Amino acid sequence: MKTIGLIGGMSWESTVEYYRIINEEVKLQLGGLHSAKCLLYSVDFDEIERYQSEGDWESAGKQLADVALSLEKAGADFIVLCTNTMHKIIDYIEEMIDIPILHIADATATKIKESKIRRVGLLGTKYTMEQDFYKSQLEENGLEVIVPNGEEREQVNHIIFEELCLGHINSSSKKYYQKVIQRLVNNGAEAIILGCTEIGLLIKSDDAEVPLFDTARIHAQEAVKQSLTKCEKDR
Ligand code: GLU
Repeated sequence: MKTIGLIGGMSWESTVEYYRIINEEVKLQLGGLHSAKCLLYSVDFDEIERYQSEGDWESAGKQLADVALSLEKAGADFIVLCTNTMHKIIDYIEEMIDIPILHIADATATKIKESKIRRVGLLGTKYTMEQDFYKSQLEENGLEVIVPNGEEREQVNHIIFEELCLGHINSSSKKYYQKVIQRLVNNGAEAIILGCTEIGLLIKSDDAEVPLFDTARIHAQEAVKQSLTKCEKDR
C-alpha cells in the first residue's frame, strides 16, 4: 500500500470526511482490520483564507508547497490537496516536490466521463466558479461547464465560507443550493459538480434530480485507488 500525503484543513470540516472515506474505502477493498497508510498535514485555514481574499496566491502557494515537501520527506508517495480552490496554486507545489499530486478536477472529470454526461453545472467558491484554473482543467477533459449567475455565485460562496467551513449546516441554505442547482439544470446541466469539498456536507444525492459529483468523495476514492495500485517495480 502506498502512503497518501494529505494536505488538509481547508477546511478541517471536509478533511475529516476525506480521512473517513479513505479509511472506509480501504476497509471495503481489503477487509478485516485494514486501514489507510496516510500522513495528514492540516494547516490553519484562517491564514490561507486571508491570502485568498487578499489575492496573495503566491504566498499561499509557497506555504502549501513547503507543506507538500514536508509530507514527501516524511514518506508520502503522492499528494492529495483536500480542497478544490487551492488547486489554483498547484504549480508551486509541483515545482517543489518529486512525487505526484492527484488533481481533484482530473479525478472528477474521469469519473464523470464514465457516464455519457458532457455538460455539467459547477458549484464552488467564487474563485473556483469564476476563475479559469478549475474550469479549464474540466474543459481539457472534454466537459462543457456552466456556472450560476453573479448573484447566485456570491451567495453560494458566502454559504461556503460563513457556514459550511464553520460546520454550520442550515436547511435554508440547502434549499437555496437546490434552487441554484435547478436553475443550472434548466439551463442544460446534465449533472452537477459539488466543486467545493464542504458542499457534500449540505447536499446529498437525493437532493437533486440529476447526478451529483461530490469532489471530496471522488478525490478520496481515487487516492485509495492510487494507494492500492501496484507500481511497475512491485509486480
Ligand atoms: N474546501 C473548499 C474547496 O474545495 C473551499 C475552501 C478553500 O478555499 O480552500 O474549494
